[in-house]
Amino acid sequence: RVPVPALLKRPVDLIVRPDHAHHAKIPLPGDLFAPERHNSGGIEFGERAALDRLLTDVKAATTELEPVTDATPEQAGAAVAAARAGFVAWSRTPAATRAAALEQAAHLLESRSAHFIAALQREGGKTLDDALSELREAADFCRYYAAQGRKLFGSEVAMPGPTGESNSLTMRGRGVFVAISPWNFPLAIFLGQVAAALMAGNSVVAKPAEQTPRIAVEAVALLHEAGIPKSALHLVTGDGRIGAALTAHPEIAGVVFTGSTEVARHINRTLAAKDGPIVPLIAETGGINAMIADATALPEQVADDVVTSAFRSAGQRCSALRLLFVQEDVADRMIEMIAGAARELKIGDPADVATHVGPVIDGEAKQRLEAHIARMKTEARLHYAGAAPEGCFVAPHIFELKDASQLTEEVFGPVLHVARYRAETLERVLQAIARTGYGLTLGVHSRIDDTVEAIIDRVQVGNIYVNRNMIGAVVGVQPFGGNGLSGTGPKAGGPHYLARFATEQTVTINT
Ligand code: GLU
Repeated sequence: RVPVPALLKRPVDLIVRPDHAHHAKIPLPGDLFAPERHNSGGIEFGERAALDRLLTDVKAATTELEPVTDATPEQAGAAVAAARAGFVAWSRTPAATRAAALEQAAHLLESRSAHFIAALQREGGKTLDDALSELREAADFCRYYAAQGRKLFGSEVAMPGPTGESNSLTMRGRGVFVAISPWNFPLAIFLGQVAAALMAGNSVVAKPAEQTPRIAVEAVALLHEAGIPKSALHLVTGDGRIGAALTAHPEIAGVVFTGSTEVARHINRTLAAKDGPIVPLIAETGGINAMIADATALPEQVADDVVTSAFRSAGQRCSALRLLFVQEDVADRMIEMIAGAARELKIGDPADVATHVGPVIDGEAKQRLEAHIARMKTEARLHYAGAAPEGCFVAPHIFELKDASQLTEEVFGPVLHVARYRAETLERVLQAIARTGYGLTLGVHSRIDDTVEAIIDRVQVGNIYVNRNMIGAVVGVQPFGGNGLSGTGPKAGGPHYLARFATEQTVTINT
């Protein structure tokens, strides 16, 4: 048995990630963020006492989440009509007022962190580490878009006047934006979409995933309390039928969606088939994300980063590692070390602070993953299978493929696929990555600068991570989103995101 990498040996504190401490040192625009608020992929409490206090508060946060009733398609239509009525006043509300409401929302969120962490654990099955990161990310989205919005929407931009006329450019909201969000980040992605659309001056009808409606109810109540008028922000819950009713509605002005490529295509078709204005879609979808580890990589670091990238959040991140390409010369030892590190993971109750891997979202997800694992057992070589407790759990698995092309779809759970390559066939690895059609995240582990540069140069991938793990993009630091089957862009948490939610108007005055 191969020794477990040092980072994974430590007891409870092992969820602290000192190798990510460098995030805290990255200089950030203005005073937007405090380092301790970063969604840096791990808990950074600084002191044990703070962790104990938080755990006590989370346990005490026993308020039952409100039961939620699904909306009818008629109610979805009524929400669009109400948002349409609320649009005018909201779009004329000064950008500074809109931004202040989002900043207040971030503040309220943090002041109720124990409550939201408990909700994320109960409804979303999140581990403490994941829930805390998500809370930080949600607050970061609100503050980041507020700061960006003050700049973009705060005043008109004077344009040159070479013809003697005066010209100006203003950005303003488009109308009613429909925001459809996934269950895997029921707070951060939900709030990120809504905050961006509101900041740009749109009114919003939000449709959260049917698996996690209660967190959305709480988030909307919080935004209303923070100063977003009820007429500007509406929530409708339900499954895909409600999403379909919203996107087919003739009065909507834009859609922002995070979820599967298949549903994004469906929305695109619906929007295209409608009469009336051309409605833009901002879609962030999935990926068959790869990591390349060559013979110069540090094996302990690879093992730690692979386990984090593939198994953290039970692999239920669209950024997660699905396909590891490892150089033949070091493959046996690397795979053994990765399996050794995976063996140390504790799978189970997300409320237990020692848990690394919580449940998958529901029985359907479990069944789908189990069917894939059963197929892999006949088609690939099993290197590691963890043990899952009773319930909605899927244990981490590691399979070695004969050929990377055996993985044809995104497997949204803790299943890692490995393929070997020889140094002289790196080109084929890059072709295999391109052939997936996705382009979301890529990990590279190599100490040869030329190799790293050549890989970066060749791939069309939204987020590339070198010599570290490949999940947990930080708002305003690693804008997140991909290309091709992975989405339309622009990147969430990046400087170009808000502009896509807005229209531009120029005024020319013959003075
Ligand atoms: N932004 C998240 C990350 O970097 C992933 C978001 C998603 O799964 O949709 O891990």
